[in-house]
Amino acid sequence: RRGPNERLFAGLNPQQREAAEYRGAALLIVAGAGSGKTSVLTRRIAGLIESREAWPSEILAITFTNKAANEMRERVEQLLGGRAQGMWISTFHSACVRILRREAETIGKTQSFTIYDSGDTCALLKRIIKELDADTLGFTVAGTAGRISKLKNELTDIETFARSANLSDPQEVMFLEIFRQYTRALRRANAFDFDDLIAETVFLFRAFPKVAALYQTRFRHILVDEYQDTNHAQYALIRELTMPVSPDIAEEMEQHGRNVAKLRDVVGAVPGASLTVVGDSDQSIYAFRGADIRNIVEFERDFPGAKVVLLEQNYRSTQNILSAANAVIANNFDRKDKKLWTAVGDGDKIVGYTGYSGHDEAQFVADEIEKLHAAGMDYKDMAVFYRTNAQTRALEEIFIRSALPYKVMGGTKFYERAEIKDAMAYLITVANPDDTLALRRILNTPKRGIGPATETQLASYAEDNGFTFRDAMRDAGSLGLGPKVTGAILQLSGLLDEAAAKIDPANPAGVAPVADVLTFLLDGSGYLEVLRNSRDPQDEARAENVDELVAVTKEFARNNPDGTLVDFLTEVSLVAAADEIDDSSGSVSLMTLHTAKGLEYDAVFLTGIEEDLLPHRMSANEPGGPAEERRLFYVGITRAKKRLFLSLAMTRAQFGETAVAMPSRYLQEIPADLIDWRQSPGAANGRGGSQSRALNARRPGLGGGTAGRWNESYPVGGSAPAERPKAEWPNRVTGKVRDNGDLELAPGDRIRHADFGDGRVTNVTGEGAKRVAHVQFEKVGAKKLLIKIAPIDKL
Ligand code: ATP
Ligand code: MG
Repeated sequence: RRGPNERLFAGLNPQQREAAEYRGAALLIVAGAGSGKTSVLTRRIAGLIESREAWPSEILAITFTNKAANEMRERVEQLLGGRAQGMWISTFHSACVRILRREAETIGKTQSFTIYDSGDTCALLKRIIKELDADTLGFTVAGTAGRISKLKNELTDIETFARSANLSDPQEVMFLEIFRQYTRALRRANAFDFDDLIAETVFLFRAFPKVAALYQTRFRHILVDEYQDTNHAQYALIRELTMPVSPDIAEEMEQHGRNVAKLRDVVGAVPGASLTVVGDSDQSIYAFRGADIRNIVEFERDFPGAKVVLLEQNYRSTQNILSAANAVIANNFDRKDKKLWTAVGDGDKIVGYTGYSGHDEAQFVADEIEKLHAAGMDYKDMAVFYRTNAQTRALEEIFIRSALPYKVMGGTKFYERAEIKDAMAYLITVANPDDTLALRRILNTPKRGIGPATETQLASYAEDNGFTFRDAMRDAGSLGLGPKVTGAILQLSGLLDEAAAKIDPANPAGVAPVADVLTFLLDGSGYLEVLRNSRDPQDEARAENVDELVAVTKEFARNNPDGTLVDFLTEVSLVAAADEIDDSSGSVSLMTLHTAKGLEYDAVFLTGIEEDLLPHRMSANEPGGPAEERRLFYVGITRAKKRLFLSLAMTRAQFGETAVAMPSRYLQEIPADLIDWRQSPGAANGRGGSQSRALNARRPGLGGGTAGRWNESYPVGGSAPAERPKAEWPNRVTGKVRDNGDLELAPGDRIRHADFGDGRVTNVTGEGAKRVAHVQFEKVGAKKLLIKIAPIDKL
């Protein structure tokens, strides 16, 4: 058995090799970032197949994103030198969709069920909350959605919840009613929400042990990457899948022609599948989605006899980057200390930069990207990370101006755009006529004179008669509506019926491709025509997006010659933020820290390393919040292979106002000698320490004590911040920079700015502490300055 694997395992260190070769029932690989966890999983799969210990179809590997799944599949096939048919490498959600589609009938759904994403969930909850007047009791859509999601991740269904609910509390009674209506609406719509996909699969397995046995005997090797971010439902799913099959069920399977004989042990049972999980508790960043770090901590208890392998060598980053990561994460208590080391060498120092504003920070990032590019680094090997999507605005503005090729991952995703949702809703109603949410979305889109009153009438007609909404539409003639409205409803209904006929397997003309069905619907409904004839320039872009969707359906057909409409809808609803990354595109990747998990880039820019952003102000005061945010910072740092840039701004337009920003508390946790602090804007051309002090001295209006304060507050120039004792680090209370509160400025005034030089005020807006001066500078053009804190003097 050793022989064939020798080639596969070449280059692995002894611990990695041990993990790849271990053959017990349960294996836990715990290790820090970049130590080869994902690589070991990949080799382990290839080794099992090549040595013929497992068929590809006996393997189930779970990754965090679809992109990671595709990469792992390609890598395994590359190692094996050929396609490995039947391997399941996918996310939890994709694996569960496949199982649920196969077993839909067992749990009273049809195979074409719809998957509601968070936007759909919110739309549905919004309607329910409105109908119940629950907003008067303080119920919000986001809060309610979060609570329902949490319950589902804990495998608490409506029945279980109802049993334990405190019915003397009106809030609780209302929540129960919302939850009940939401559950009912999903059932009627033949739909699952995202959390259901996992929970319902667990319920399915628990309720139908024979169905579970089909998967327990099929998957003999289960491997899970990023195990630290599994939640309770996902954990339970793994437990179900690794359960042994009892002798009598195994016997019954034999009698039904399932050949499980070779799997059975002496008493006739089929032992549970082997389980390998890999993870790093320092990278657990999804607690807010119910991820439970205990799953990794308690693995040994749950799977007795489990082998534990530790990996300590990092192959990704330079020593300077690693030392920074180690130093930061060491501040989290309640963790096993593990020290990563690397043979790569120190590498370049980390570069720190404090921008005057978010825009200046973005300009620095753009400049450095261009320098790296000029020095030979591809754009695709660079990434910019941030904590919140809102931070992309400044970055994008500067990148567009600098003509830098970039791609934003996540954010307003293609499939979240209203026009795409509309077009998708047309397809969904055809695939799943029970999906009331989709139907109601298109009922009057484009406008065809069917108002909200008519919609409500249709809904109650359906409700009263036990029809679906779709049936009510077909029967619109008996509702006593005006002839025009009735005609509009019947016309739409007819269009949908015609489209449904196109994908009916019984259609003698054959099943139409998805692209044809989509085009038919968009033309027949007049949706595209309305967009194209509109005078609103935005509608032009919308029409282009819809065309892009048509292109997507054509590409889908090329990649999946046998793919049905339902397959297409499944694929789209499972596209995660990280999947939009296109490595071949030759552009810089912009993404949130959460999306960055598991990825690596030659150069990484971590932006907005400020209090209120990192830690985010929503989690700073939550129990465990600052520790989780520190892990997020750790994830960000450890994505970098060669170059790491940390940047922040002194003022930031955030949460609807421009405010003074404070350096993140985590910055001072990085040893000072690892960071080379660059100058603040204006002198940002790479000059060193002594000059920066000179520049500070030159700062108009920053004489005497104020200049000292400036330097203490912000890591600028040669006086590296971390050299200062911790106690002096500024915080939100004491960290005042400068106060120009009473500086009177009016259009026409001439001013001098410490960095931008001389300029003329063109306008003054805002009030009090938020007064903003619009200034036309002689050298740097137009800028907006927060008067209270800008380093300016009136001339
Ligand atoms: P993360 O915690 O960020 O998910 P990881 O532990 O999964 O990281 P990998 O992504 O598997 O780490 O590996 C990090 C990098 O190191 C990859 O570029 C991988 O190819 C490389 N690598 C892993 N093991 C070795 C090895 N033995 N020799 C050379 N390179 C290796
Ligand atoms: Mg990994």
